[in-house]
Amino acid sequence: MNPKITRFLENQALPTPYLVVDVDHVEYRYQQLKTQLPQASIYYAVKANPAMAILERLVSLGSSFDAASWEEVELCLQAGAPAGGISFGNTIKKASAIAQAYQAGVRLFAFDCLEELEKIADQAPNAQVYCRLMVENKGAEWPLSRKFGTTLDNAKTLMLKAKDLGLDPYGLSFHVGSQQTSIHAYEAAIAKTALLFTDLAHAGIDLRMVNLGGGFPIRYQEEVPEIDQFTSTIAQAMTQYFKNNIPHIIIEPGRFLVGEAGTICSEVVLTSQRGIPDGPKWVYLDIGRFGGLAETEGEAIKYQIETPYPEGDMVSAAIAGPTCDGADIMYEKTPYQLPIQLKSGDRVSLHSTGAYVSSYCATKFNGFKPLAEYYI
Ligand SMILES: *Cc1c(COP(=O)(O)O)cnc(C)c1O
Repeated sequence: MNPKITRFLENQALPTPYLVVDVDHVEYRYQQLKTQLPQASIYYAVKANPAMAILERLVSLGSSFDAASWEEVELCLQAGAPAGGISFGNTIKKASAIAQAYQAGVRLFAFDCLEELEKIADQAPNAQVYCRLMVENKGAEWPLSRKFGTTLDNAKTLMLKAKDLGLDPYGLSFHVGSQQTSIHAYEAAIAKTALLFTDLAHAGIDLRMVNLGGGFPIRYQEEVPEIDQFTSTIAQAMTQYFKNNIPHIIIEPGRFLVGEAGTICSEVVLTSQRGIPDGPKWVYLDIGRFGGLAETEGEAIKYQIETPYPEGDMVSAAIAGPTCDGADIMYEKTPYQLPIQLKSGDRVSLHSTGAYVSSYCATKFNGFKPLAEYYI
């Protein structure tokens, strides 16, 4: 356990629920990635946690940023990022957002279909564009493949079209899915990307950039491969498939940089077996699906929960949030064992909650306040 966070949690006076994030740990992960894959430019995926303290620290380290909306672009600029270090990476952008970003100096835009490409050509003349490919998301605990990306054939047509529209056909991107636990996912996607580089070179277009997206996993309940296994596989695959003509590499880590840096402190509101023989012990926390734990949908992300009773008898538990919505259940099928003694008023910690929690927090539902956040 992180000593800085442990000390912070000792303050029992702070009302729960809250998220506490160790910004030094974000820096540690950034430096680690930078050292392991020095040939790549790091574009932090702002959506994972857009807190100013994180953005400012990353600006000071020389990071670039992947923004998904004009509002995220604006946050990066406020944090001191140069516009040239921001990629507008969402493939679904309002024309007005493209125009605002372009006026602010952003010159790098993603797309995956003709309509979006035409919007970029209208609002951001001469900009650099990259096309997102559809790739296999097997091995990812939070897949992203159904909603985004296009086929190789269509990407080829679109890159040729980009040039006709006066844009700069700059590169290709993919995302192998978030919390990707298989190191082979990147290899297959790089192979696919290299094919289209060659194909387009024959058609007179020399692409210069590959954007490998995010996906690097962190530890929740289960072990995941270390980051050096991912980075060495990536470096090898780039050499194998691009030979001595390796393009500029962009990576867009979100979860990997901020996830482990955060812990949620939550209070048990109620425990009950509800008179159901052999039923689990229901543990209702003051944070749930609508208070930021959105990635528990489908019980996809399984947070580690620490209680004040490390020793003693355990029982099967179902874990839910405090709202009156029946969907506000975090874990019912996943076998969680919690202490028999756990009762209302106890404080529990949910570890590795620095990514995709504060940014997912729905405000106001059932009158609960948005999650409090501390950056230390
Ligand atoms: C969400 C997202 C990322 C970050 O993904 P992680 O799995 O958190 O690393 C990177 N790039 C794009 C385009 C994304 O949508």
